[in-house]
Amino acid sequence: MTRPSVAGRLISVAGGRGTVGGVSSPGADPRAGRDRVVVVGASLAGLRAVEELRRLGYDGEVVVVRAEAHAPYDRPPLSKEVLAGEADAEDTVLRRQPLDELDARWLLGRAAVGLDVATRTVTLDDGTSVTGSRGVVVATGASPRLLPGTPALPGIHVLRTLDDCLALRAELDQGPARVVVVGAGFIGAEVAATCRGRHLAVTVLEALPSPMVRGLGETLGDVLGSMHRDHGVDLRTGVGVAAFEGGARVERVRLADGTIIDADVVLVGVGVVPNTDWLESSELVLDDGVVCDETLLAAPGVVAAGDVCRWPNRLFDGAPMRLEHWTNATEQGVAAAATLLAGEGNAKSYEPVPFVWSDQYDMKIQCVGHFSGDDDLAIVDGSLEDRRFVAAFGRNGRLVGAVGFGRPRVVMQYRRMIAEHSSWDHALELAEVAT
Ligand SMILES: Cc1cc2nc3c(=O)[nH]c(=O)nc-3n(C[C@H](O)[C@H](O)[C@H](O)COP(=O)(O)OP(=O)(O)OC[C@H]3O[C@@H](n4cnc5c(N)ncnc54)[C@H](O)[C@@H]3O)c2cc1C
Repeated sequence: MTRPSVAGRLISVAGGRGTVGGVSSPGADPRAGRDRVVVVGASLAGLRAVEELRRLGYDGEVVVVRAEAHAPYDRPPLSKEVLAGEADAEDTVLRRQPLDELDARWLLGRAAVGLDVATRTVTLDDGTSVTGSRGVVVATGASPRLLPGTPALPGIHVLRTLDDCLALRAELDQGPARVVVVGAGFIGAEVAATCRGRHLAVTVLEALPSPMVRGLGETLGDVLGSMHRDHGVDLRTGVGVAAFEGGARVERVRLADGTIIDADVVLVGVGVVPNTDWLESSELVLDDGVVCDETLLAAPGVVAAGDVCRWPNRLFDGAPMRLEHWTNATEQGVAAAATLLAGEGNAKSYEPVPFVWSDQYDMKIQCVGHFSGDDDLAIVDGSLEDRRFVAAFGRNGRLVGAVGFGRPRVVMQYRRMIAEHSSWDHALELAEVAT
């Protein structure tokens, strides 16, 4: 791929490591006294934090530590246009303006392995360290979960990074006879749709009763399931995978009931785990993510943002949340930077209405709010039969969520209502007026 230019300040590291500027030799950080923010894991959340620091006028040093060698890129196209072959790596660049404008030191291909919270010193995997005298932004995201016992067989893929995507795409380009997708969550469902768009035979294996059940609940998950079946996907729900089998590469998937499914390519999409290993020996509280307060502070001068962050969202009575969504990573990166610069006691609480979208076939699916399959459900626009609708979710007399299939404008109306604490009755009345 052609890597985005960052004009001189960055040494890109094809297959190796690169540093810019003087990070310390192993041991102490000679620049420890300087006013500096260290951003660890700069992808979407980290990049947005760096941009916000500069927008707010922070003129100290910014050091960005990023395990991936590529400059920051966007992940949503990896299961959609790039995997389909309709876009390329270059099209995923996250920041169109030169990175150089941010006046940061980028340490690409370099992972953080530890954090001393008291001094805000980040230790890197080459033994050097860098101190965030002003603060540290933890934005290390998440990594795909694997099923226990998954063998290292060629042909078995996960999808998180650009390299994952290009490796999977190269195999799809060979025209495999059957693709098996394990897990019908957001990633699995999108990959299945993209593969059908490439006219490949696809089997989807899902342990739960319907696709995307955690995001949509069972009723709407069933609607999605019927959409996939109508597009020719062999969708099997309520099934467990017992083993992946093959010789030189994967050849079949064995289910818990003994059924064998031939497979030339397998995509495992069974969720992600937050990247907190490197913080195990720090004093931060880790519990399915870095636990923060409502302003995103994990400790004095240490904030977290994006898929790695768990915080209490006051808009939903302080419900602890860890979101794995693009919009949250963007908004939370901005909010975390503001918290760092706000000074003690001045930071604002971060209380968004969660928002996630998914593109499958020609359908845009959007989910807003914080809801589950146990909440009250009403179709407030369109109809399930037409698969064009908005479903609203209510709990304890309050509107808490909405899902739209092919109804972007109406979903955004419900997003605003959730932010305004609209009652469930009001949401239903509005629907009656509209029909
Ligand atoms: C294929 C795909 C499609 C998606 N599609 C959608 C969509 O349609 N809609 C939607 O709302 N969301 C979508 N998402 C989710 C969205 O992209 C993520 O929520 C978002 O990327 C999270 O950003 P982040 O910066 O928190 O974490 P990440 O993007 O995971 O970035 C974290 C970065 O930190 C680096 N890192 C990890 N550990 C270390 C360490 N110790 N030291 C240094 N660096 C480290 C990682 O290498 C990575 O570069 C999709 C995600 C994927 C993978």
